[in-house]
This record gives sequence, structure tokens and C-alpha cells, in this order.
Amino acid sequence: VDDLVAAARAGGVGEAGATRRTEPWPNDPYPAGSGVGQRYQSLRALLAGELDPIEIVGTLSASGLRGMGGAGFPTGKKWELVAAAQPGTVKYAICNADESEPGTFKDRQILADQPHLVIEGLLLGMAVVGAEQGWVFIRHEYGPEERVLRAEIDALRAAGVIGPDACGSGRRLELDIFVSPGGYILGEETALLECMEGHRGEPRNKPPFPGNYGLHGRPTLINSVETFADVPVILRRGAQWWGEQGRGDSVGWKFFAVSGHVENPGVYCVPMGTTVRELIDEAGGVLDGAAVGAVQPGGASSNFIGPENLDLALDFGTLAKAGTMLGSGALVVLAEGTDLLAAATNVLRFFRNESCGKCVPCRVGSTKAHALLDGASTLDDEQRAQVLRLEEAMRKTSICGLGQVALGPVVSVLGLER
Ligand code: NAD
Ligand code: SF4
Repeated sequence: VDDLVAAARAGGVGEAGATRRTEPWPNDPYPAGSGVGQRYQSLRALLAGELDPIEIVGTLSASGLRGMGGAGFPTGKKWELVAAAQPGTVKYAICNADESEPGTFKDRQILADQPHLVIEGLLLGMAVVGAEQGWVFIRHEYGPEERVLRAEIDALRAAGVIGPDACGSGRRLELDIFVSPGGYILGEETALLECMEGHRGEPRNKPPFPGNYGLHGRPTLINSVETFADVPVILRRGAQWWGEQGRGDSVGWKFFAVSGHVENPGVYCVPMGTTVRELIDEAGGVLDGAAVGAVQPGGASSNFIGPENLDLALDFGTLAKAGTMLGSGALVVLAEGTDLLAAATNVLRFFRNESCGKCVPCRVGSTKAHALLDGASTLDDEQRAQVLRLEEAMRKTSICGLGQVALGPVVSVLGLER
């Protein structure tokens, strides 16, 4: 595994532009270089009956951990709901590693450097909700990380940590990897489920949520890479320790992918609540010492904020209040002088191209809006009004997040230019 981790860092991840890293990340509760034998301590304790599933859910709730895929749903609550759903039925757990949001590559780094935390979190989730089978659904371009995960899973099987008698507990815990056939929309959790069932990858209407009606209609626990990786950290170090890592009211460590006009694009692990300005400084500052023109703090789906917002804390609540979101943990920086309308139209072009076409507002609305905006340097009043009408229609009537947010960045830029 160590060789593959090194190869993933040096080859796959490095070539893709993420951080090359030699020192350990600050969150990891296990000593650097330890193997399967020393890690997976919380899982072993749970399977040995020394840790109670209810206690685990309580610790996660007390820690304030929220879903790091973008939406921030409380993790303890999700685990509790899936554990309580349809008692006695077959359940499943899935780690969503189909990270595809433009500018977002932090999960890739976590998979490459901390596969043990991701997999321990997934196995803990399976054991807590009562699932015997789990999968990592991984983006097909993440080949080096897939190999790291496969090696880790093989090592766990060889050590008897997973298998028909996981850790000698008499419980069956099996893991597999499902490689996405490709397509941004498959990262939407219900499109992911449709894909795994062999159907066309289109989102379902929610509710029901996968926690009640997931893979093959069974209750299914789905969390993202970073969320699962945070679980063993919190269980080993405690909810209080996790809370103390954040700034102010924010809790825990947070991985961010920083890209755009910065000196050192890459992945950074900082306390939740770090300000936008501090994270840009961490990434070496704006390219060539330029001033900030605008920032997308949470990936392509998030609204742009202007330079007057650089002292905002990067956390769920603060960014939501400012009209944007923490989202997929991807800070995209645009230097002063960048054509913001062109940049936002580029984001819209991505969403238009990736729309699955299932619902009319998204399919037609994104195409119409793109036709209006493509190549436009300014918009007259009627064109602005039309963009606002399309944005409202798409936000209110699209069935999944893609259509709901596709025009948000454009509208936020129109606000900045006013
Ligand atoms: P969502 O709010 O519908 O759901 C978030 C999670 O909470 C889901 O797992 C859902 O099943 C669960 N949930 C929500 N309400 C629930 C309830 N009442 N009962 C039980 N479970 C419930 O959001 P979403 O559409 O899954 O995700 C949207 C986010 O995804 C966006 O904020 C965006 O930032 C992010 N995103 C990330 C990427 C990426 O590559 N990481 C790509 C695109 C979008
Ligand atoms: Fe597909 Fe867009 Fe509808 Fe989502 S909003 S289901 S991507 S057409």
C-alpha cells in the first residue's frame, strides 16, 4: 500500500496538479507509516463489543460533523436514520468518491494519502447501520487512487479485518469498488444508485432519500470520502477534540482544493472557520501579487463573492448567510481584471453540457441561458431580466442540484458587476 500511495502522489495526483506531500496531515490519529495492524482501532473496538453503535452515533452528533460532499447534512443524524430504517432488512453503505465538481480535487488527495481513514469510516458506517456489503463508487479518472484502495482492501482481507468473520466477530463485512462509467451527474447520490443498478444515470426525485430507499430499494448509507475519513478521527480523538480544532463556532479540520489565480494551487487541510483571505495566503497568495477580483468558495455550484468578503469564515453557516456555500470544498480564485461574466458563463457551459436532460427546466433552460450569455461582454436590461427569469425557473423546478444551481454563479456575477 505504501508503494501505491507513493506512486499515487508522485504520478497520478502529482500530475493532476494536487499537492505533493511528505509530512503527515494534521487530522490523522494513527502514527505515520503504521499498517493495517495498528490502524482500524475503532472498528476493532466496535466489532469486539467495546464500542456501542449508539455511542458512535452520539459521538458523531456531539462532534457537529456535517456532510463534506457539499450539502452539510448532519452525519450523526444520517447514520441514526439509516440504522433505524426498515429493521431486519438488507442494508448497504456506499462511499461517494465520484468527485467531479470543477475545481474540486480534495477527495482525490484524501484517497491517495489516507485510504485507511476513508475505509475505516465506511466499515464503521456499515457496522453501525447493519450493512454487510459496502462499496466505494469512484470516479473513473482516479485510477491511481483506485489502485491504492484496492491494495488497502486486499490487505484488510488478508488480515481478517474484513470478510465472512470480520475481526473474529462472526459478522460479515465485505467491501468492493465500483468504478463510475463517467459523467458528472453520477456523483448525485440517486443517479449513482441508478447507475449501480444498471440503469441510465439520472437522478431520482427526493424524498424518499437513500437512507430509506437506496440501492435496490434498500436503506443505504451514502457519505462522501471526506465525511467517512473524519469518522475514525473523531472516534479516536473525541468529539470535544474535534470541536476544538475549528475556529470560533466552527468545528474540525477541513480539506480544501485551492485553484485559479493563486501561486500554489493544491490541497490544504485547515481549521474549519479559517477565512477566505487566510486560505488564499496559505496557497501563496494571488498570482503575481494581483488583487482578488472574485472567489468561488465552494466549487462551481457556489455563488461568486467579491473582494469585500475575504474575511468571511469558511464554514457552512457563514457562507450561507453571505449568499454562497461551503459546497464541495473548492476555493477558486479569480484575480482582479478577470472577465467575471465569461468565467461564470464557462461554469454554466459545464452544467449545460453535463445536464442529464431528464427535466425540461434544466435541459432547455441551461441551453437558452448559455445561448444568451456566450460571448456577451455586457447584458442590457432585458437580457438581465431574462437571465433572472431563467434562473428562478431552474432553481424552483429542476429536480436535482445541477439544474437548481446552474445559473447561480452567473447571477452572482451580475450582482458583483452592478
Ligand atoms: P441534499 O441536501 O439533497 O442531500 C444531502 C444529503 O443529506 C444526502 O445524502 C441526502 O440523502 C441527505 N438528506 C437530506 N435530507 C434528508 C432527510 N430529510 N432525510 C434523510 N436524509 C436526508 O443535497 P445533494 O443534492 O445530495 O448535494 C448537494 C451538494 O452537492 C451541493 O451543495 C454541492 O456543493 C455538492 N456537490 C459536490 C460535488 C463534488 O464533486 N463533491 C459535485 C456536485 C455537487
Ligand atoms: Fe438531470 Fe438537470 Fe434534471 Fe438534474 S436538474 S435531473 S441534471 S435535467
